[in-house]
Amino acid sequence: MLDCIIIGGGPAGLTAALYLARFRRSVTVLDAGGGRARLIPATHNFAPFPDGIAGPDLLDHMRASAERYGASILPERAVSIAVDDAGFRVVTNGQSHRARALVLATGVTNHRPPLSEADHARALAQGLIRYCPVCDGYEARDMRIAVLGAGRHGANEARFLGQFSSDVTLIAPAGYIYSADVTVADAPLADLALTETEVVATLVSGAVLTFDTLYAALGTTPCTDLAAALGVRLTDDGLVKVDARQRTSVNGVYAVGDLTEALDQIGVAMGQAAIAATALHNDLSERDRR
Ligand SMILES: Cc1cc2nc3c(=O)[nH]c(=O)nc-3n(C[C@H](O)[C@H](O)[C@H](O)COP(=O)(O)OP(=O)(O)OC[C@H]3O[C@@H](n4cnc5c(N)ncnc54)[C@H](O)[C@@H]3O)c2cc1C
Repeated sequence: MLDCIIIGGGPAGLTAALYLARFRRSVTVLDAGGGRARLIPATHNFAPFPDGIAGPDLLDHMRASAERYGASILPERAVSIAVDDAGFRVVTNGQSHRARALVLATGVTNHRPPLSEADHARALAQGLIRYCPVCDGYEARDMRIAVLGAGRHGANEARFLGQFSSDVTLIAPAGYIYSADVTVADAPLADLALTETEVVATLVSGAVLTFDTLYAALGTTPCTDLAAALGVRLTDDGLVKVDARQRTSVNGVYAVGDLTEALDQIGVAMGQAAIAATALHNDLSERDRR
């Protein structure tokens, strides 16, 4: 019986693991691989690395930090969780693990623009496709920017990017969008293609537009299957509801990172993880005293 199982080995889960291991708790991280941090070609807003660092390299540092203090990190996907009086049993592809407490750090997945896997990977690496204006709007300053998205979210993202470039065009993935104060393409997207250095958007009207970069503002799906199965309360947007100490509505279950309602940033995920790990440690100590 471990003190804690952390589901998800992104910046949120790995930071929680570091704190818990240093609190001398037995802790295992289950990680399915992938995740949003792994997609980052280079982050420039994470202060310890002024020259930027690629997401996979940052994760390697974080894994090494957690492992140094005894956290174990297993390449396993959690598929179900059972609750009993003693705690939780997490079943993965092939194994089963028991713990007194759980941290959910499974993140969200972005809805992608219509590109093949190989084109998407190249576009991300070259900055032709981006997902996070808060993260890298600075790098896109003065570029010809397309925002692919609809509704309030798309318009807000185009408006935000208008502070970095005067050349921002909002393109609808389908249907019609109206926005009073951003430039909107006159027809929805029919096809998306890449050259070596540009993104080429063909509209259903036949018009062809070229851009230096395209922000996908197509929304996300929170990875909350396990949380929902546990009966954890979710927000209207399908994210995990937490209190000021990152506790969920289910006793002994904490949630951190993009999975919760907060700004989707590495720094925020790490801050939440520090709070959750400290609360979890204190809650277990209090339970033992009683
Ligand atoms: C292209 C891109 C660029 C970005 N740039 C920046 C930036 O420059 N600066 C910044 O601060 N933020 C940036 N972000 C946002 C940042 O990536 C996220 O805020 C951060 O990764 C959130 O961390 P997380 O641990 O919550 O989730 P993630 O990093 O998504 O990690 C979640 C982990 O949980 C695992 N998982 C999910 N389900 C299971 C399961 N059932 N069992 C086991 N494991 C599971 C996944 O495999 C994954 O490893 C960027 C995002 C993208 C997509």
